[in-house]
Amino acid sequence: MSTSTRRAFDPADPAGIDLLLSEQERDVREAVRTFCDRNVEPHVATWFENGTIPDIRELAVELGSLGVLGMHLDGYGCPGMTATEYGLACLELEATDSGLRSLVSVQGSLAMFAIHRWGSEEQKNQWLPEMAAGRAIGCFGLTEPDAGSDPASMRSRARRDGDDWVLDARKMWITNGSVADVAVVWAQTDEGIRGFVVPTDTPGFSAPLIKHKMSLRASVTSELVLDGVRLPNDAVLPGVTGLKGPLSCLNEARYGIVWGAMGAARSSLHTALDYAGQRTQFGKPIAGFQLTQSKFADMTLEVVKGTLLALHLGRAKDATGLLPVEVSLGKLNNVREALEVCRTARTILGANGISLEYPVIRHMNNLESVLTYEGTSEMHALSIGQAMTGIAAFR
Ligand SMILES: Cc1cc2nc3c(=O)[nH]c(=O)nc-3n(C[C@H](O)[C@H](O)[C@H](O)COP(=O)(O)OP(=O)(O)OC[C@H]3O[C@@H](n4cnc5c(N)ncnc54)[C@H](O)[C@@H]3O)c2cc1C
Repeated sequence: MSTSTRRAFDPADPAGIDLLLSEQERDVREAVRTFCDRNVEPHVATWFENGTIPDIRELAVELGSLGVLGMHLDGYGCPGMTATEYGLACLELEATDSGLRSLVSVQGSLAMFAIHRWGSEEQKNQWLPEMAAGRAIGCFGLTEPDAGSDPASMRSRARRDGDDWVLDARKMWITNGSVADVAVVWAQTDEGIRGFVVPTDTPGFSAPLIKHKMSLRASVTSELVLDGVRLPNDAVLPGVTGLKGPLSCLNEARYGIVWGAMGAARSSLHTALDYAGQRTQFGKPIAGFQLTQSKFADMTLEVVKGTLLALHLGRAKDATGLLPVEVSLGKLNNVREALEVCRTARTILGANGISLEYPVIRHMNNLESVLTYEGTSEMHALSIGQAMTGIAAFR
């Protein structure tokens, strides 16, 4: 039989990717989609416009109840879902707003993962159940004013003083910083780079909000200032020394972005489809013009290819784990192409494309941050280049 009889074509799933998902995976996706539609979608454009989430602590608790915080971690009150289920959740969260996915990524894949992977039993028991429930918010401080793509050049420093550690650090662009209860902060020590679990009410810690952002406005972004912060000996993450610590966490968060970016792209594609079907110029819907249809064909291809790549990486992560360069393949491609999809969708909406009445320009602006954080697109290109050629071109 040359044509399929198994189903009708569905613009919401043009390549039949749903057939590759288990019932459980579809249920997880549906639960997250329903939550976002009810609890976040009606408000998120206003949050973005005002640059603030009015009750972020309540939102965190709701996300905890939904089971998306530390979603793919086991034990200590964490949901213990698969990487693929976590990825599907990220896609739905970012179809609503990259800021929402960032809140969840930083909590689960950066702050909680660092404690889960490298922390002591005491640290895990103290923080993970509260963080999984959303009652405690975490942040992850790696980037500094003078150390972004090159974290090895960080200046933040911790020194031993008797049984204590004393931490002097400046961190920049830290998601969740001003609302966090706990910060995982990376600093140079005499032993190499170490991670510290810092309760944010420790004297000497402050987290001023970064204002004037034009991207990820529905997300808290902060500086971290640690002046002579005195911490007990057991505040250090005992399991790791060196850049391997923070890089292992970034790899987890980047994996979520591989999926999430496709959510922002899907939302923009469908917004443009609805719009083009209704907007009439020259006596017919703009969806009927060949140039518009060519845009839809290209956008659809990129969403299908990117989602398939995310699903492949999810299955591989669940089966064998991923190499960092495999995550780079997904992050570089999917964020770059999602941004292009959003830009194209914006053109289809004409002047309405620049209005927050539609989600497209919000997604587009958000993805400018996503392109830069968790490793810039250039850094991922260099990682892929190094893996392909065997030659490092970072410096
Ligand atoms: C909204 C937002 C939230 C963030 N949240 C966090 C967070 O929670 N925690 C955290 O630690 N950080 C966070 N970051 C910081 C983010 O990870 C950094 O911005 C990122 O790593 C890039 O660092 P940089 O901005 O200092 O740019 P730079 O490293 O200064 O890079 C500037 C440009 O130079 C290019 N470049 C640098 N080196 C090379 C090279 N060798 N070859 C070619 N090109 C090069 C880069 O690709 C980029 O295009 C966040 C950033 C944003 C925007």
